[in-house]
Amino acid sequence: MVLDRQRQPLRLADLPVPEPASGQVRLRVRACAVCRTDLHIVDGELPQPKLPLVPGHQIVGETDDGRRLGVPWLGWTDGRCRYCTSGRENLCDQARFTGYDLDGGYAELAVADERFCFPIPEGYSDLQAAPLLCAGLIGYRSLRLAGDAERLGLYGFGASAHIVAQVARHEGRRLFGFVRPGDEAARRFALELGCEWAGASGEQPPEELDAAIIFAPVGELVPAALGVLAKGGTVVCAGIHMSDIPSFPYELLWEERLIRSVANLTRCDGDEFLALAPQVPVRTEVEVFPLEQANEALDRLRRGEIRGAAVLQM
Ligand SMILES: [Zn+2]
Ligand SMILES: [Zn+2]
Repeated sequence: MVLDRQRQPLRLADLPVPEPASGQVRLRVRACAVCRTDLHIVDGELPQPKLPLVPGHQIVGETDDGRRLGVPWLGWTDGRCRYCTSGRENLCDQARFTGYDLDGGYAELAVADERFCFPIPEGYSDLQAAPLLCAGLIGYRSLRLAGDAERLGLYGFGASAHIVAQVARHEGRRLFGFVRPGDEAARRFALELGCEWAGASGEQPPEELDAAIIFAPVGELVPAALGVLAKGGTVVCAGIHMSDIPSFPYELLWEERLIRSVANLTRCDGDEFLALAPQVPVRTEVEVFPLEQANEALDRLRRGEIRGAAVLQM
């Protein structure tokens, strides 16, 4: 499936068989999960993607020599800039991202730099594994940046939150879920995932929280989340794009509260999370679409109708 121009549906196309360059592997794609970032790219909220583009950065595929590998968002780094050489390759000045700067996995075949691929843990089917590669990975990084918060709020119960909730419970944290006002299905989902309380995003939880992770791309949630934090608490913005954050009184930030964003992933995050996932064990809930229905999957995600993660099956 090809994106020719932003703000247009993807087009089903026959493309030439991709040839791996030096250091790359070719994969027969078995599954590719759909990420909100894909939606931001298609909808024009992220600037200047490669065009035409094959989107998709949560790829589970099989190499020409029969190995099962996962391809994440971070597709290439220069290895030399001040970020790469200080353990922060997620911030690399020259980074190239799968399904944005590089063709991704909404396809039958893909190529990827082998150094950035991960072995998929045994025990996960292709479809169940795909959402681990971004929803899981970025969620995991967000959870790490939330520190050792005991009482954790999650805003937006999509693919990422449904994985993070399981990891956080495994670590013995207490969870509080915030959903769109009126979204009763999401509220029930949050409770099923182990939140001891779930309510609308404007509501006050029964007690103060030590950290909150915002997965929804809604700037208004930043002051809302600050408003439910205890002193010294952290708001982590996990998305790559968010609407503008409205101004708010300094007292919401006062007392050493923090706001920070999460950008991309390092390979170290991937190794850690993919080792942890089977121990939890993280179980992903997926809604499966055939590749040709990628537009339908994106539409459903845009409308907030996906429970868990949407995955394209080849
Ligand atoms: Zn770099
Ligand atoms: Zn993603």
